[in-house]
Amino acid sequence: MFRLSRYFSLLSLALIAGASALLLLYYRHNAMEQLLALEQSRAAEFTQVFENSLWTEFKPLVDAARPGDTPEILRQRAAASGLHGALARMARGTTVLKVKIYTPAGMTVFSTDPGQIGEDKSDNPGFMGAMAGRTTGALTHRNQFDAFEGSLSERDIIFAYVPIHAPSSGETRIAGVFEIYQDVTSFVQQAERQMAWVSATVLAVLAALYLAQFLVVHHAQTILRSQAEALHEANEDLDRRVQERTQALVHEISERRLAQQQLNHLAHHDPLTGLPNRTLFRERLTRQLLELDTADQTQLAVLFIDLDRFKDVNDTLGHPVGDALLINVTRRLQASMGPGDLLARLGGDEFICLLGGLNGVPQAEATAQRLLALFQQPFTVDDNRLHLSASIGISLAPADGMDVDVLVRQADAAMYQAKALGRNRHHFYTAEMTTQARERIQLEGRLRSAIGAGELSLHFQAKVDIHSGQLTGAEALLRWHCAELGEVPPARFIPVAEETGYIEELGAWALNETCRQLAAWDVAGLRVPVLSINLSVKQLERGNFPALLQACLLRWGVVAQRIEIEITESVVLVLQDAFSRLAELQAIGVRLALDDFGTGYSSLSYLNRLPVQVLKIDRSFISGIGVKRSDESIVQAMVDIARSLDLVSVAEGVETEAQLAFLRRLGCAEVQGYLFGKPMPPGDFQARWQAPA
Ligand code: C2E
Ligand code: MG
Ligand code: MG
Repeated sequence: MFRLSRYFSLLSLALIAGASALLLLYYRHNAMEQLLALEQSRAAEFTQVFENSLWTEFKPLVDAARPGDTPEILRQRAAASGLHGALARMARGTTVLKVKIYTPAGMTVFSTDPGQIGEDKSDNPGFMGAMAGRTTGALTHRNQFDAFEGSLSERDIIFAYVPIHAPSSGETRIAGVFEIYQDVTSFVQQAERQMAWVSATVLAVLAALYLAQFLVVHHAQTILRSQAEALHEANEDLDRRVQERTQALVHEISERRLAQQQLNHLAHHDPLTGLPNRTLFRERLTRQLLELDTADQTQLAVLFIDLDRFKDVNDTLGHPVGDALLINVTRRLQASMGPGDLLARLGGDEFICLLGGLNGVPQAEATAQRLLALFQQPFTVDDNRLHLSASIGISLAPADGMDVDVLVRQADAAMYQAKALGRNRHHFYTAEMTTQARERIQLEGRLRSAIGAGELSLHFQAKVDIHSGQLTGAEALLRWHCAELGEVPPARFIPVAEETGYIEELGAWALNETCRQLAAWDVAGLRVPVLSINLSVKQLERGNFPALLQACLLRWGVVAQRIEIEITESVVLVLQDAFSRLAELQAIGVRLALDDFGTGYSSLSYLNRLPVQVLKIDRSFISGIGVKRSDESIVQAMVDIARSLDLVSVAEGVETEAQLAFLRRLGCAEVQGYLFGKPMPPGDFQARWQAPA
């Protein structure tokens, strides 16, 4: 900070000191000048008096003086003149201490100090000034001075050269020069005393002025300092706040950046597994496709991986287990990925994998097989050992296409194909799949109008007693004759209906038609003991099926015991409350049959608890009779199980007498198959089985 009071005090002190010094010097000079002027005029007056009164003594001295005169001669003449005594008289009582007289030629003809008589003063400036008509003089200080009355010490003396004129002659000629020494010691002392006073006063005033100014400045400085301090504090405060704000901003920015990164991560990753999502996969695939050298064949493969029956796990064991399973699956898949590969999750149980830098189809195939092999070991989630498999569809670039969406769609279609071919396998995309997929979409659209258009019908297939060959019942099977597509097998449209939810309407229609037919045959005199109807899990999932069933029975006057509901094993896996749902149906009084037994995840533990009365052994095992020993053993085991659980065993798809004979030996109860009749329209069925009247 600028030290205002210090600089001011130094500067003003210097200025005041300078000013007072100047002032005093000027004052002193002035006083001396005045004194000098005064003494000069007194000297002139004295000279006047001398001229008037002593002219006669003086004149001869001057006139007598010749250049060759010795001082001695001159002294003698001076002593003789009597001037000394006259001058001493005149000077008595005055301040005149000494007098000297010079001729116009500068010769000293008289002095009150006789030793000086005879000196030549012609070149003295005072003398010359007087000769020019001016009175000149100066003030000097003498330590020792010889005056009229002896020697004096420490005197301030003014000496003046005054021109001498002849008295009252009117003559202007200068007759000589008078030098008068006057004692001004007391004047000087007085002047100096005055000077001391004046100096003291001036100094006191200036000091007071200085003090006053100093106080003002000091006060101003205090104010300035406190203001500067306040300003400094304010600055520091501002600095601190700026720093705080900067830190907050930096923090905010880094938080925002982090949030942005998290958002970005979220936007590109699946929150459950942490895998890249569809967006990121598409970005990567797009980039890789751009970098692809199309001259070469297979370089990129898109593997669409779908877990088989994952939904069952989700529905049976709950979503948390399903989620944990997905994480486990992700871990296994991820671990077997190559450095250039990308695994992403599309959602649900769908994963997609991008293989880069391939050198041919076999490599893609080997990878697919390696991935499938990962599912051979069961997954463990919360003490549950879960067996899982996957179906993989593969599309290749540039062979199958160079468009991201096309490649993904193709891999998806190939995956569907793998599923259709029995799951737990991989399948490469083929051009026909696109047609199939297109057909599937077509099918979906048509199916919705099938009931309204009267395109649906039921065919019936007989079930007979293995020993008597008597009709024990018939299975109602849906048929769809589409106006545009022709005959569409249930294996094609039932899954589509299940996926779209349209199965509920189809099922309701089939149930109603079955009951109606049973009642109609009763009236017509064809006694079919039991009619079976296939029930999709989707129908059972909806709570209103039991009510629908009861309403139907009531409508057609059919007793519950004459309706059999065929359910597949998957019901148990898929439906969480499968047992209670089935118990509801059982309570109504209908029979329950376990269809396609042996193809699903049959477990004796729950088979025991299921409220079913009938076991339908799947056609695939029957067709193995006489062909595969293992199938025969399985069939035998199934018949044994049915017997031990007190269930009716029904063999599906019996086509040959040999099969029939084998089944008969095993003790199977009933059979169904082409051997006894294909599924046929009600009219044909009636004609086939109605005993001739
Ligand atoms: P499913 O219930 O196992 O029906 C038996 C299937 O085996 C029928 O095929 C039948 O025609 C066929 N079949 C019977 N005997 C033989 C034989 O000796 N040899 C051969 N090779 N096949 C034989 P379909 O009618 O094509 O039905 C296929 C599947 O469609 C059914 O299998 C059933 O699961 C489903 N389905 C049919 N109708 C309905 C329905 O109304 N509702 C539901 N939810 N599903 C139905
Ligand atoms: Mg069936
Ligand atoms: Mg079956």
